[in-house]
Amino acid sequence: MRVSTQSKSFQQDWRWHLKNAVRDLNRLANELEISLSDFKSDFPLLVPFPYLNRIKKGDLNDPLLLQVLPTVEENNEVPGYILDPLQEQKPTNLPKGLIQKYRRRALIVAAAACSINCRYCFRRHFPYDRSRLNQEKWHDLIQHVNSDKSLREIIFSGGDPLILPDKFLEDLILSLNRIAHINTIRIHTRLPVVIPNRINPELISWVKKCRKKLVFVFHINHPNEINDEVQEYLSKIKLEHTVLLNQSVLLKRVNDSSKVLTLLSEKLFETGILPYYLHLLDPVKGTAHFSVAASKGMEIIKELKGQLPGYLIPRLAQEIPGLDSKHTFFY
Ligand code: SF4
Repeated sequence: MRVSTQSKSFQQDWRWHLKNAVRDLNRLANELEISLSDFKSDFPLLVPFPYLNRIKKGDLNDPLLLQVLPTVEENNEVPGYILDPLQEQKPTNLPKGLIQKYRRRALIVAAAACSINCRYCFRRHFPYDRSRLNQEKWHDLIQHVNSDKSLREIIFSGGDPLILPDKFLEDLILSLNRIAHINTIRIHTRLPVVIPNRINPELISWVKKCRKKLVFVFHINHPNEINDEVQEYLSKIKLEHTVLLNQSVLLKRVNDSSKVLTLLSEKLFETGILPYYLHLLDPVKGTAHFSVAASKGMEIIKELKGQLPGYLIPRLAQEIPGLDSKHTFFY
């Protein structure tokens, strides 16, 4: 039974899609008419229907399926692939939920959950219980942001920050509105790509109340992730004070070709989004089978340059702990 995202009004709430997402392999196999071997992972399967409906039935190599399907390769022990390659779990003196990697920017680990479990996730082993924003104590965090006059930008990350209730997000935005030295708020999210009607009237209302520059960084890896519905909903938050960007992860068998990434850039542009980063995979335990070498990444970018204008070419980047910015490659 495939669920139409348009047909029944009770399905229109994004939380309905989350609640009724596919969480076990047998159901996934039935829905997609494929046969799958049983595999239990401590990072469970999670894929809601609006995303699942974009996967081609009967195709085990579908690039969207490969991003969500748990496989035995996750058990491979590969040297260098560890639990916390970005060293985000080191203790700090900052309030719970705040990470500061670079000067002038601080990141709020706003939520512990996502709407989809991407198998290559760089935070798949992140101890959210210990390290995410405490919804009762968020005033402490705002107070810290208020007192640190060096900060210019606050980044909401996760998990996925848009999984939080709109009322809470609105309170955060209104509090940040009052801090004069903050000029930009950035929201990293995949949720509206997975369940487009997350862009609901309540969300649009707090987006409109934001008095800072508001940057949305979506996470889209393949052009098939962008259908008409995604385009329709994302266009609703293209406003005078918003900027829409995209980051992708370079993933083996998913998007490691200039043909796919050319199409992705073109579709993003059609949707009003500019490509921002193309990340090399972070060496997280259980994800090595997605890895693409930096040399191949540079080759792909060279090919993109022959196909696209400069503003549609993402920067190939890698996060290396301890550097004062992301490492970007020159080609
Ligand atoms: S949406 Fe982002 S944080 Fe969530 S599982 Fe996917 S990659 Fe990880």
